[in-house]
This record gives sequence, structure tokens and C-alpha cells, in this order.
Amino acid sequence: MDLDKALGLIAEVPDFPEPGVLFRDLSPLFADAAGFAAVTDALAGTLDPGVELLAGVEARGFLLAAAVGYARGLGVVLVRKPGKLPSVAGRVDYALEYGTASVELPAGIVRPGQRVAVLDDVLATGGTVAATGKLLEDAGAEVTGVSVVLELAGLGGRAVLGGRSVHSLRTC
Ligand code: IMP
Repeated sequence: MDLDKALGLIAEVPDFPEPGVLFRDLSPLFADAAGFAAVTDALAGTLDPGVELLAGVEARGFLLAAAVGYARGLGVVLVRKPGKLPSVAGRVDYALEYGTASVELPAGIVRPGQRVAVLDDVLATGGTVAATGKLLEDAGAEVTGVSVVLELAGLGGRAVLGGRSVHSLRTC
């Protein structure tokens, strides 16, 4: 399946999770074998040179990182919401529109100097990926870049990520 057709499987859901928000639901894409394969191959092609490990952001980033990791022969570190990990290397809190969120990294997985790429489904305000990048760098990793399926350009995530190498399969 070509990439445009695969990305066309993503559903747009108005007023979720709150009124006025247009939610991009990747569920139909993940459920379509050819579509999922096309997106996996495309993301695999975005990795910057020398990547040694993929960081998947809970929860849809796990699926993407696992698939790309298999395709490229790379392992995955799971960047988790708080309270899920038995042993934590670090935690970064970040602001949401209302309230805060946090991401945690498992202890003893990322090696100092290791070149890590971040994978997630959607880049919106950039807060999640920025926090993930800081988490990895606090653990001594080198973040090579960020790869996402969709970038919601109007929300300014790329600017929040400063000079990071950001790859999105589609900007909308
Ligand atoms: P950000 O931190 O504002 O960039 O939001 C990105 C995080 O929220 C990602 O982990 C996404 O999974 C999730 N997210 C934000 N908007 C959407 C959406 O429209 N569809 C699916 N996930 C979204």
C-alpha cells in the first residue's frame, strides 16, 4: 500500500477528548496490515544515521517503535507514564493545557552515549516529545531525532523541539 493511502486510514474524530479538538485516531491504520506495514517502512526510513536504540512513547509509540525496531534490527526502550516501572532511571514532568503530565525511563536500559531515536504517533504541542528527549539526555543518551506519523503544525511542536531533527510522515 502506498503511504498516502495508508495515512488516509487515520480517522478524524471531532470534539475528542474535549469540544473543539479534532482527534486523529490511528486505530484503523494499526488494524490494517498493509497500512501498518507502509507506515512502519516509512518511519524506518526516517531514522538518522547511527541510531542504536528506539524510544517508544506510551502507548501508541510502543507499537511504532516495536515495528520499526523489528524492521531495522533495533531494540526498544519504553518511555512510560508514571507508576508503571519497577525501577526508574529518571522522570520529567511537563505542562499540559490543563495540569501536568510526566514520563519515566526504566533504570539500567539506556547507556551513556547511546544514540537513541524517539518514536510517537502524533506531534502536537511537542511537550511529550520534548520531555522524552530531556529524559533520555538526562540518562546520558544522545537523541538523534524524532519520528512521528502526524505533525499537527498549528500547535507548534517543532518549535518547542528547538534544533532537534524532526521527521513527520504527514503534516496537517
Ligand atoms: P503533545 O505533547 O501536545 O505534543 O501531544 C502528543 C501526545 O499526545 C502524543 O503522545 C500523542 O499520542 C497524543 N496526542 C495528541 N494529539 C493527538 C491526536 O490527535 N491523536 C492521537 N494522539 C494525540
